[in-house]
Amino acid sequence: MDTSTGDNAGGGSGRPRVKQDADFIFHELTRSICPECRTVIDAQIILRENKVYMRKRCPAHGWFEGIISSDAEMYVNSARFNKPGTIPLEFSTEVKDGCPLDCGLCPEHKQHICLALIEVNTACNLNCPVCFANAGIGYSLTLEQVEGMLDRFVELEGDPEVVQFSGGEPTIHPDLPAMIQAAKDRGIRQVMVNTNGVRLARDDRFLETLAQLEPVIYFQFDGLRRETYRTIRGEDLLDTKLLALNRLHQAGLDAVLVAAIERGVNEDEVGAIVEFGLQHPAVRGVVLQPVTHVGRHLPFDPMQRVTIPDVIHGIVEQTNGRFVLEDFVPVPCCFPTCQVNSYIYTDGETVMPLPRLLKIEDYLDYITNRALPKAPDAAQVQQALEGLWSASAVAGTEKTAGQFQCACGPGMELPYSVSHLKEHIFQIAIKDFLDAYTFNVKQVMKCCVGILVPDGRVIPFCAYNSVGYREQIREQLALEQGRRQNEPVGRSGG
Ligand code: SF4
Ligand code: SF4
Ligand code: SF4
Repeated sequence: MDTSTGDNAGGGSGRPRVKQDADFIFHELTRSICPECRTVIDAQIILRENKVYMRKRCPAHGWFEGIISSDAEMYVNSARFNKPGTIPLEFSTEVKDGCPLDCGLCPEHKQHICLALIEVNTACNLNCPVCFANAGIGYSLTLEQVEGMLDRFVELEGDPEVVQFSGGEPTIHPDLPAMIQAAKDRGIRQVMVNTNGVRLARDDRFLETLAQLEPVIYFQFDGLRRETYRTIRGEDLLDTKLLALNRLHQAGLDAVLVAAIERGVNEDEVGAIVEFGLQHPAVRGVVLQPVTHVGRHLPFDPMQRVTIPDVIHGIVEQTNGRFVLEDFVPVPCCFPTCQVNSYIYTDGETVMPLPRLLKIEDYLDYITNRALPKAPDAAQVQQALEGLWSASAVAGTEKTAGQFQCACGPGMELPYSVSHLKEHIFQIAIKDFLDAYTFNVKQVMKCCVGILVPDGRVIPFCAYNSVGYREQIREQLALEQGRRQNEPVGRSGG
């Protein structure tokens, strides 16, 4: 560590020693990991020129600094949108080595799981240069394994909200339809399929099967420029994406567009993605995610990465005055710096964001703890808003439409039927997953998005990606699969 103090160090120069102000505000101390060796280390959050940075030192690899928010005011103000967590019915591990090494969930975790992911395979029909899951050779879960994981999710949650099948590419798993059915059979209210859309564009029979099961399609869609796909996905997929979306509409399936946003590639397309989604009849929402620099990713500068405020400002600036900064509100069920949401009533042309119809912070500000507005239905409105501003809110569902209807209450000049709202409510979510430069135990301790693992654990998504769980579990599942396949015929399944 450099302990010199420059010009002020001398007594020999004859100049008076002058104390200087730091060029940053020390905001808080937290825990993170070393981007080189992943050792858990202390980390400082500092504010400089209205931006927020994480600064930390690994004893073996020295100092690291990376941006975590390009708008300090937005970051600091989000603290009041921090809802008390709900404790899950059971935990799967013990507190032993401390967060984030005890996942999970361990009894120190501060929130239950709103949204569970099952990565059914590691294989994919694409080979994207940007792939947090680092898709490739690994494992493919059996239907029995997935059924066991769904049973565990029900045990942990009692009444689970949402499960999302992911991968790799889940649509190339031969048992995906049976897995979706298994989730529905267990009463899990909403099932999603996270896909690149390639098989949806090409396989009629598969699309028909999915249409009968009615999952919401979480549809990878990074922009409207061919070059964007060549850079992020390694090939021009635009026509395939547009074809798949049109086919989803014909099949009666709803989609949420999910875009990975990278600096210098497509941050200037966020407005176009929102506008496209508002116009397309299959699309009920968009999720904009700054690229998570884990797994495979393009070279990046941790001081220049895209953060949530960049995406919000991008939408405001690129949509011709349709949106303002205040239309985007932090999500209180996770840590409020993880995600912001907005909901819009739209007829395709005009848009009316919900935060302009009622003052959301009157209901979702948990720090000042002030009394709710005096309206007789205020408690129901708060409950509805908590449902909408949750990681488990799924665009295009009756539940979301009903919550929107309830939040608006009487007096709003909109048609009220849930079936009408279901077609006209549009969700915008912006999620900033953590990488080794931004990893913050404060956020993962209250994470509400978990990866289900066959051994019964649920591992918070950002811990799974950054701390080493993904690699350990992938290796373990691949080994188990290899052993199963090498068992003599007649002994397997015994
Ligand atoms: S992230 Fe949660 S489950 Fe994992 S170690 Fe930390 S507190 Fe425990
Ligand atoms: S990002 Fe998705 S589509 Fe691309 S290789 Fe990875 S799993 Fe496949
Ligand atoms: S997945 Fe990551 S970004 Fe999302 S709630 Fe969990 S910790 Fe926050």
